[in-house]
Amino acid sequence: MPERLGPPRRTPLFQRLAIIGFGLIGSSIARAAKRLSLAGSVVAVDCEEAVLQRARALGVADEATADLVVAVRGADLVILCVPVGAYAAVTQAMAGALAPGAIVSDVGSVKGAVIAQVQPYLPQGVHFVPAHPVAGTEHSGPDAGFATLFHNRWCILTPPDGADGQAVDKLREFWAAMGSNVEIMSAQHHDLVLAITSHVPHLIAYNIVGTAADLEEVTQSEVIKFSAGGFRDFTRIAASDPTMWRDVFLNNKEAVLEMLGRFNEDLASLQRAIRWGDGEALFNLFTRTRAIRRGIISLGQETPEPDFGRRREE
Ligand code: NAP
Repeated sequence: MPERLGPPRRTPLFQRLAIIGFGLIGSSIARAAKRLSLAGSVVAVDCEEAVLQRARALGVADEATADLVVAVRGADLVILCVPVGAYAAVTQAMAGALAPGAIVSDVGSVKGAVIAQVQPYLPQGVHFVPAHPVAGTEHSGPDAGFATLFHNRWCILTPPDGADGQAVDKLREFWAAMGSNVEIMSAQHHDLVLAITSHVPHLIAYNIVGTAADLEEVTQSEVIKFSAGGFRDFTRIAASDPTMWRDVFLNNKEAVLEMLGRFNEDLASLQRAIRWGDGEALFNLFTRTRAIRRGIISLGQETPEPDFGRRREE
């Protein structure tokens, strides 16, 4: 699958883009936006001075500041890229400085709770269009970002009722320019879909790695030595950012608990199949799941390479 960005735009889509939270996702947006000339200027905001210094050193933002008010003043696109638990405080702090007609968006992995946290603080005339790029890695921070992160990945927009159509179209254009396939759905549906495709898988990975770490009969060195037996692939997911994932589970409680209930029922039936020697049930399930993986590969959402093919174009 080629991972190439298109040529830069002749005229930018936005005059001033403020990116709040300059980690993996924020710095990837900045890299892509600069490379493609999607914004006249890109402003990086972060609460960590060390992150701001990296933003300057990497040359992926025109300005870098810890001051939210300075950053969003005159911005026509503001994207929240901080952990979801920080959204309300950030929105409250910047709300008074937002320009009329500005679009406020985000990249949070949950959407219902985000709308509840952000919308009440936004002044009239500011357009709120939440978004979630379904793309990422287990790494964090500004050095982990790369311009092609969103290429050939889905970006889901969840405009609230009454959202401004032009603002939605413009944000769609922004994500499409970065190579994303854009889909629009309700926040509630998003949270249910992502609970099973992303949140529960992360919980399972955190749990299995935790269980292995706590085993008394198997030593830590054996767990590491024989990890290629499947465990290793879970450890990649379980290395994901603890703050981000704590906030995801606290903010998508209902959907995650609903999907976990189903997961537990299915796990119990697998347990029963093993106990009673029901090889047919096991074989049938494993055949069905293999077909799902092949479907993901054929849709270009994964490669068949054993290292997951996670090459990147800097
Ligand atoms: P990250 O690499 O940890 O970056 C987040 C940055 O925001 C960090 O530099 C953090 O500083 C900073 N920050 C935290 N609170 C702040 C505040 N109140 N004001 C200003 N800066 C603040 O995280 P990320 O992976 O880019 O994730 C960011 C968002 O993207 C999350 O909402 C997540 O749900 C979403 N997302 C992530 C992925 C993924 O795979 N990682 C995929 C899709 C969407 P500190 O380090 O000092 O806290």
